[in-house]
Amino acid sequence: MAATLLTLQPRPVDPSVDHGIQAIVAGAAPGETCNTDLAAGPWEFDARPGYGPGSSMGDVIPTGAPRQGELPAEYREASEEELDRRIRAAKQTLGDRVVVMGHHYQREEIIVHADHTGDSFQLAGFAQQHPDAEAIVFCGVHFMAETADLLSRPDQAVILPNLAAGCSMADMASIDEVEECWEQLAEIYGDMDEADADGLVPVIPVTYMNSSAAIKGFVGRHGGIVCTSSNARTVLEWAFARGRRVLFFPDQHLGRNTAKAMGVPLAQMPMWNPRKPLGGSDEATLDDARVILWHGFCSVHRRFTTAQIDKARADHPGVRVIVHPECPMDVVDAADEAGSTDYIRTAIAATTEPTVFAVGTEVNLVQRLAAQHPQHEIFCLDPVVCPCSTMYRIHPGYLAWVLEGLVAGTVLNRVTVPADVADPARVALERMLAARP
Ligand code: SF4
Repeated sequence: MAATLLTLQPRPVDPSVDHGIQAIVAGAAPGETCNTDLAAGPWEFDARPGYGPGSSMGDVIPTGAPRQGELPAEYREASEEELDRRIRAAKQTLGDRVVVMGHHYQREEIIVHADHTGDSFQLAGFAQQHPDAEAIVFCGVHFMAETADLLSRPDQAVILPNLAAGCSMADMASIDEVEECWEQLAEIYGDMDEADADGLVPVIPVTYMNSSAAIKGFVGRHGGIVCTSSNARTVLEWAFARGRRVLFFPDQHLGRNTAKAMGVPLAQMPMWNPRKPLGGSDEATLDDARVILWHGFCSVHRRFTTAQIDKARADHPGVRVIVHPECPMDVVDAADEAGSTDYIRTAIAATTEPTVFAVGTEVNLVQRLAAQHPQHEIFCLDPVVCPCSTMYRIHPGYLAWVLEGLVAGTVLNRVTVPADVADPARVALERMLAARP
């Protein structure tokens, strides 16, 4: 789509979604949030089961999901300015002993302290660039900290400032459910390791980066591979060169959108619902399948709809609509472009003409892009402010707590992956790194 030639006036944008939420909840600014509890500190929810307010608040959290113990009062009660000062002071004291990673979906109040920002895989790569750091403080969610632990040195501590920062999508594929699925598929396909006359095994498991280390380990043990939203097509091509079918988890939308763009018919992409026998499918359908899609989704990206795109087009003729491939298929089809967070950032940065962008991804990134590119008008497709519930669990209070812990010689909230899981998980990651278009 051609750039919209507009006389947009550069305007300052506050990159802080938190400030916007506070103002909306206080009635000092127009707008709507999906839950007014977002104005509270995440420690209000640490002791309760559930993902907390935000996009995943309607999802069922697995029994036994990590919880965060009580954050000391001095961090809960500190002002934004005090926490900012304490984080800077602790980082200065620690120097090169610590490196702070900030995922694009983190609050601005965290991102300002990050030594590196990026998506989950970029951040794991940055962690490898700091082999001398004693600690990697990962401001993201649990599976990201696990991936950083897989790729960092054994003596480096990977710290997740709030252990309740899981990921509802990653939680939708548990290792028990995936093992059970594999057993049921083996009853249909026979020996899962035996290649046919074309040299293809019955199924290659492919997991999105947004999955637990246990799932990555499963994939590594069964000849499979990891993918990201940037390389999903390359990885599916790798898998189709080795298997007759792909079992793709946990995100059905990334799997469907990618396979559809490769020409796989929807009829050959049955869904696997782990709560139903044969995933809710049948033997004939599974026999004909090319991609078996796990019944998982991201609750942030599932909020985007074609009605929002229609409204954006009506309100802003010529608007450029870019969405993430974790969005449902009809949304991706209705958008002008779809791509990873890195794609979205690069596409906007590369646009020189003042342009109106409607973006379908997590609101913290969209707001930051709007602040970084005041020559454009950039807004989130979803008019309701609803950040990722689990990214939201990382608040400056927790970052100050873990950093001051390190200053005092205490490693808090370390995330480690046991060796029997880590070894095959690394194999799956290495296959991804070696896969070429
Ligand atoms: S944005 Fe979606 S996939 Fe990413 S951490 Fe949040 S729930 Fe998980």
